[in-house]
Amino acid sequence: MSGNELQRENPYDNMLEVLDEAASMLGLCEKDYVALRHPERELKVAIPIDMDDGSIHVFEGYRVQHSSSRGPCKGGIRYHQDVDVDEVKALAAWMSFKSAVVNIPFGGGKGAIKVDPSKLTKNELKRLTRRYIAMILPIIGPERDIPAPDVGTNAEIMGWIMDTYSVFKGYTVPGVVTGKPIEVGGSLGRKEATGRGVMLVTREILHRLGKPAIGCRVAVQGMGNVGGVAAKLLSREGCKIIAVSDVSGGVYNKKGLNVDDIIDFLSENTGKFLKDYEGEGVTHITNEELLCADVDVLIPAAMENQIGESLAPKIKASVIVEGANGPTNLAADKILEKNGKIIVPDILANAGGVVVSYFEWVQNIQSLMWDEEEVNMNLEKIMIRSFNEVWDKAHENKTTLRMGAYIVAIDRIVKAKKIRGIFP
Ligand code: GLU
Repeated sequence: MSGNELQRENPYDNMLEVLDEAASMLGLCEKDYVALRHPERELKVAIPIDMDDGSIHVFEGYRVQHSSSRGPCKGGIRYHQDVDVDEVKALAAWMSFKSAVVNIPFGGGKGAIKVDPSKLTKNELKRLTRRYIAMILPIIGPERDIPAPDVGTNAEIMGWIMDTYSVFKGYTVPGVVTGKPIEVGGSLGRKEATGRGVMLVTREILHRLGKPAIGCRVAVQGMGNVGGVAAKLLSREGCKIIAVSDVSGGVYNKKGLNVDDIIDFLSENTGKFLKDYEGEGVTHITNEELLCADVDVLIPAAMENQIGESLAPKIKASVIVEGANGPTNLAADKILEKNGKIIVPDILANAGGVVVSYFEWVQNIQSLMWDEEEVNMNLEKIMIRSFNEVWDKAHENKTTLRMGAYIVAIDRIVKAKKIRGIFP
């Protein structure tokens, strides 16, 4: 299946299929979980922006709230030229399951604007963000729905969101958004949290499988905030990072790459890509070659739908840790399972970000400031506890870690729904 065919798959239908399968394993009947097949609320907005050249452009934006049964909705805001409502609906549902699998008191939501942020000036981006927030303002808030960064957004944008919401309220409300700059109520450790979580679950899975981390060969797709941090922290654990990639392609060194040097190269200025990286013993490879590299662990940490059914049989890694949301499509998932590959699923593997978002929100609503050690220690505790719960549930049900994670998550959400009952 080519990349284009993969793009046409409906991620929301995929989510529903996994949900139905896990619900049936849990022995639920349809009425127990039917509400989870539908997002609670979907808001679509048309955002008019004064462009710097004097024209007016109208952008399409969304905020989808999937479930608030266990607490306020929580989830990032994505700026990407290809987003559509079904993708946002799937991402919102995955957030509900992610919060539930790590047992933090949130539901799930997601927002997006259909825009390529690299094509906008900073002032246009700021106006777009402020107008979008003004338009979704009635449905967000620290007790309602708390946005965060995702693909194409960052701490600076979260700072504008905090300011816009606060201006409307008339007082400063840091708890309306997480992933903010530290100076305006962001949490120490939040930026690295998703990558750190990926490292922690990789360490745990290797331990469970009796494979030493030292010398373990790893390939990472995506050198952004998730993949870059995961690669760095895994190399500190003794893993050999032999291939990494970004949108421009990948670099490979059988003896192990110098991850710190690569991160320095990429962060020197925003226009730098791996295709221009040179280093001793480094060769350039394609994205497909990276995904099929002869490694022990593969970490797809870029976008969804990267591993499809034509690529799946060629994957050599025995362990796949999903740093991105939804990188493996359903058909590929089945092939990988048949081939004995172990997948640590996205809703567990990349949950470190939302866990530290929870810590940020907890600090904001109580006006506390934790040090980084406390953040990292609590993150580690939650990631290890959640990994063990998923592992045990999967083994109890003789199923995959993905199904194990969904069973843990759905059970928690369904129980909360049952206790609350349906109004009126
Ligand atoms: N966008 C991130 C995710 O997909 C973080 C969400 C959050 O921190 O609320 O998990």
